Amino acid sequence: MMKMSSFFAAALALLSIGMSVLIADDTKTAPAENKRPVVEQPNKDGKVVKTDDEWRKKLTAEQYRVTREGGTERAFGKAYKEFHHHGEGTYFCVGCGSELFTSTEKFDSGCGWPSFYDPSKANKVTEHVDTSGGMVRTEVVCSVCDAHLGHVFSGEGFETPTDKRYCINAAALLYVPASKKPGATGNKPKGDRKGEEGKE
Ligand SMILES: [Zn+2]
Repeated sequence: MMKMSSFFAAALALLSIGMSVLIADDTKTAPAENKRPVVEQPNKDGKVVKTDDEWRKKLTAEQYRVTREGGTERAFGKAYKEFHHHGEGTYFCVGCGSELFTSTEKFDSGCGWPSFYDPSKANKVTEHVDTSGGMVRTEVVCSVCDAHLGHVFSGEGFETPTDKRYCINAAALLYVPASKKPGATGNKPKGDRKGEEGKE
C-alpha cells in the first residue's frame, strides 16, 4: 500500500516537472517578438476591420490621415529621409502589420516618396483605379486592412525589373531591419521530445 502511493507521488512529481519545463519553454519564444509590428488577427474573410475610433487610437495623426483618409505626405519629408537611410529589411503595414514590401524591391526614383518596383512575395498590395483630382491613377491599398498606401505608375523608364514605381507614403509603412528579424523562431524541431525517457 505504502509503496503504491509513493509510486503515484513520484509519478505526479515527474509529471509536474515535465509540465513546468513545457511552460518555461513556451515563454522563452515571446521576447523575440518585441521589435515586430503588431500583426492584427484578421476576421474569417481575411480582413482587419476597425471602427474609426479604433484606428484613431492605434495610429498617429499623420498615419491616420494618410492610411484612412487617403492623404499624401509631404515629398522629401522626415519619414522619407529616414526611409532613405534604411538598409536591408521588411516594410509592414502600419495598420495591420501585414508584410507589404522589402528592401529588395526598393529603388531610388528621386520622387521624394518611398519607391518600390514590386510588392514583396507576401503579395498583400491591392490596386484600384483612382479618378480623384481629375486624373486617372492606380491607387494601392493594403489587401488586409484597406489602408491607403499610395499609387503605382508604370512605363516611366526606370531600369528596374518591372518598370513600375510603387510610390508609397512612408507614414503607411513600418520598417523592420533584417538583423532584427527573429529568424530563429520556428526552427525548433517539433515532436522531438516525448517527455518519457529511460523506460527500460
Ligand atoms: Zn494593412
